[in-house]
Amino acid sequence: MPKCPKCDKEVYFAERVTSLGKDWHRPCLKCEKCGKTLTSGGHAEHEGKPYCNHPCYAAMFGPKGFGRGGAESHTFK
Ligand SMILES: [Zn+2]
Ligand SMILES: [Zn+2]
Repeated sequence: MPKCPKCDKEVYFAERVTSLGKDWHRPCLKCEKCGKTLTSGGHAEHEGKPYCNHPCYAAMFGPKGFGRGGAESHTFK
């Protein structure tokens, strides 16, 4: 029986949703930041955690987002 990466409990078939190559409880697959419920394949991911595409992922990790470490030297005016 697969375990939900969010709550670490077993996921039964009836409540299973597969995303990011893992099996989640349907209510457990939600944005780490805003808590919005996500659908399988319809969301973004960062370090194995699910985020909604908008606004969270775009705001935090998108090209225009803040808080991005900036591998390239990139200055915002
Ligand atoms: Zn769960
Ligand atoms: Zn979100």
